[in-house]
Amino acid sequence: MTRGTATVTNHAGRVGRREFLKGSAAAGAAAAAGGVAGSVVQTSAQAPAVPARWDKVVDVVVVGTGHAGLAAAITATDAGAKVVILEKMKKEFEGGNSKISGNMWWTPTNLPEAIQYIEALSFGLTDKECVKALAEEMMQLNGWLEKLGIKRAPLGIFQPEHPELPGSACVRTWSNGGSSDGRLYIPLREQVAQRKIEVMYEAPARELVQTPTREVAGVRADVGGKPYVIKARKGVVLCCGGFEFDFEMQKQFLPGWPIYCQGTPGNTGDGIRMAQEVGAALWHMNNPLAGLGGIVVPEFDPVVIPINLSGAYIRVDKAGKRFMAETRPSRHGFGVKEFVLHFDGVTGEFPRLPCYAVFDETVRTRGPLTSMRKFGWFGWYSGYEWSADNSKEIEKGWIVRGENVADLASKLGMKPADLQATVSGYYENCKKKVDPDFGRATNSLVALEKPPFYAVKLFPIMYNTQGGPRRNGKCQVVKPNGQPIPRLYSAGELGSFWGWMYNGGGNNAECLCTGQIAARNLVAMKPLA
Ligand SMILES: Cc1cc2nc3c(=O)[nH]c(=O)nc-3n(C[C@H](O)[C@H](O)[C@H](O)COP(=O)(O)OP(=O)(O)OC[C@H]3O[C@@H](n4cnc5c(N)ncnc54)[C@H](O)[C@@H]3O)c2cc1C
Repeated sequence: MTRGTATVTNHAGRVGRREFLKGSAAAGAAAAAGGVAGSVVQTSAQAPAVPARWDKVVDVVVVGTGHAGLAAAITATDAGAKVVILEKMKKEFEGGNSKISGNMWWTPTNLPEAIQYIEALSFGLTDKECVKALAEEMMQLNGWLEKLGIKRAPLGIFQPEHPELPGSACVRTWSNGGSSDGRLYIPLREQVAQRKIEVMYEAPARELVQTPTREVAGVRADVGGKPYVIKARKGVVLCCGGFEFDFEMQKQFLPGWPIYCQGTPGNTGDGIRMAQEVGAALWHMNNPLAGLGGIVVPEFDPVVIPINLSGAYIRVDKAGKRFMAETRPSRHGFGVKEFVLHFDGVTGEFPRLPCYAVFDETVRTRGPLTSMRKFGWFGWYSGYEWSADNSKEIEKGWIVRGENVADLASKLGMKPADLQATVSGYYENCKKKVDPDFGRATNSLVALEKPPFYAVKLFPIMYNTQGGPRRNGKCQVVKPNGQPIPRLYSAGELGSFWGWMYNGGGNNAECLCTGQIAARNLVAMKPLA
């Protein structure tokens, strides 16, 4: 990707110089900051101001080029609407989290079990009307993809991810030939191209335009760095993702922070702020989907690099103590919520944020600690070549090396005796082939024996947030009183239906379903004069 310097908001909420994200996040930072000179900012006390002239007039404005945006744009276009898609990033980074995701999805085998399972996953946090709408649309999803010529094959993983929950037997997971390389995104994007749907890049939406009667009538954006106003005769579908890269919002809403994301730095909560400004209720804001660990290094901060470990390693807190069975399946976030986001009210800190993976020479020499396949932002765009034996990353200080456990502990700022006791205790468990402390799987109990020893500083590694403006079963964005905000719809992970637990493949499926639902309902409306 393009390298250079750019100004982005870092995890501390400060504005700093970052090499990695030139051009990719600059537009995002501008949109997140809001308030371009000369713009009309509406508050609830002011009557909405409609622009005297529009730069463009269409039927439907779609904000965001992820799966949700593409599904909405295709559906609206096929129903005869004139559509424009706004994307804040450069063309090379289009597609948000969707393109760089595992590109897998799930569908149910039958409606009653689908409703049962989705309801159980949502744990009472998603309205029944929404559960039903999502389940019904998911039943039709593969048929829609077939019509678009998108192939699928059974994937088998996460089938189901929560077998203990009622209805889970209905889950079938799919991919179009693999869980990387944009295999779902790219053919869907091709469908947008075939329909000649206009996509405007480096065009962050900043604000919704409302009529004096508070119908959403368009979008104020920045195009080429200048204000640009688009009229949407039928309405607007916000598909602009979550708030993964807004570290201030993380502090207000997530149960622990910072959590770093392996998705697009373009997702900075813009859609949440735009919807709030026109009175939207929020939901599911406390729900990050995150795996158990990646590293953040100066060159690529704030994008996280996933770390894969097996064999002779343990995970310890800042004091050098183990705190969980390292092999426990993450279940798309529950491992993190249960163990890593623990706050210690006595010491007044998150003792496991960050935590550390400690491993021995056998792990270091087995191969690279990360995979450079096209999955996640780092694999797609960093252009980095990780060394086969991790030696380059040790030299860079990304991996800390100690001649012995005590030496390593000193370098990590831990008491040597504490880390030594942890490694020795774990060694005893390995010899007995049982982990009475945390119940780590017997076949994974491999002692750390071969010096030197190493450590990486791990943060939870987020796929995406699920929170955002609340929507109803028609994908209309609603106010705190449940009333829809006229002509404002949302789709995808911006205010997702997935409120609590989650089955892998559910987000992409929801994006494709809610994009269609939103567009169908919007296109059926009478246009504004
Ligand atoms: C590494 C990774 C792997 C994953 N694997 C899977 C998987 O296999 N299956 C699954 O179901 N889910 C997976 N997920 C989650 C899933 O990818 C996302 O939930 C889904 O892609 C969200 O799609 P979306 O269309 O809602 O948003 P996105 O695809 O994130 O698109 C949002 C777009 O909006 C743009 N945008 C933001 N603000 C503005 C603005 N102001 N103006 C204009 N544009 C704006 C962004 O730049 C972005 O392009 C994964 C996520 C990650 C990060």
